[in-house]
Amino acid sequence: MAQLLKGKDIAVSMHHEIKIAARKLIKQYNRAPLLCVIQAGEYHGSTLYMELQKKTAQSLSLGYRVEKFPKTVKKEKLYEVIQELNNDKTVNGIMLQLPLPGQMNANELRHHIRPEKDVEGVHPENLGKIILDKEGFAPCTACAVMKLLRSTKIHLYGKEAVVIGHSEIVGKPLSLMLMNALCTVTVCHIATGKRGILPEHVKRAEILVVAVGKHNLIKGEWIKEGAVVIDVGINCVGGKVAGDVEFETAQKRASFITPVPGGVGPVTVAVLMENLVKAAKKQMQGDY
Ligand code: NAP
Repeated sequence: MAQLLKGKDIAVSMHHEIKIAARKLIKQYNRAPLLCVIQAGEYHGSTLYMELQKKTAQSLSLGYRVEKFPKTVKKEKLYEVIQELNNDKTVNGIMLQLPLPGQMNANELRHHIRPEKDVEGVHPENLGKIILDKEGFAPCTACAVMKLLRSTKIHLYGKEAVVIGHSEIVGKPLSLMLMNALCTVTVCHIATGKRGILPEHVKRAEILVVAVGKHNLIKGEWIKEGAVVIDVGINCVGGKVAGDVEFETAQKRASFITPVPGGVGPVTVAVLMENLVKAAKKQMQGDY
């Protein structure tokens, strides 16, 4: 039976470190690191997520501010706000909350955030640093997956890693991070699914990360005996949150498995706060 990889426990120990670092900065520079979130339009899911971010930030002595706009806001106005926040020395991290209204392109906007304040790790400069294996801000969820994997103490070197999903914020950066750790990485996506060959890739995965958003897409019987399984997926099923992996059966074959909820999610939020403190420290020290 697999050991549960409880993201909540990892987040608690990260929170402890973040709080110490935040209080040090407050003592030294007389102000708390501040995260500014831009929200255009109001969507139930993102409002809930922002409430969680705010609660977490406040519990860690970090500042959290929302710049709220109606769904009719023009993208030019949002560009203007991003520029103002880029130039505001009291703002250390900027985040654009998704989804955006209508046809607004999130990437076009996010790419205007100063890379030094891009605590979500979505600016091309930060994404490019992953290829170069250089320090920057990598996407929070991909970082969270790496933290969960490292918490198992399993050596990643040479392992067969299979990543399912190739989005810009999860699958793609994560596959590069696993490659940097010298895993042998296979990336599966919609075409892999359509060819019906997901099971054969999953069956040889020693490390399996699933980030798709389709409940029970991955069958427990496909899991290799002893595999580490990280389920990033979030699906609403009968009013409850569930992942992409068939948990009950997968748990019998894996060595470690993340629960959904309580796995990747809490670590993702903790990484966001960790990035904010890191950004604030560099900005306050005048490194940039
Ligand atoms: P996304 O942008 O929608 O990407 C989903 C990926 O899955 C795409 O690369 C897609 O391929 C692939 N895919 C779709 N159907 C497939 C199939 N049948 N077989 C194989 N691959 C398939 O989503 P995302 O932002 O990466 O998020 C993925 C999931 O993780 C969602 O449930 C999301 O809510 C969750 N999530 C959780 C956290 C957290 O903190 N826990 C954070 C972020 C996201 P194509 O692009 O080729 O269609």
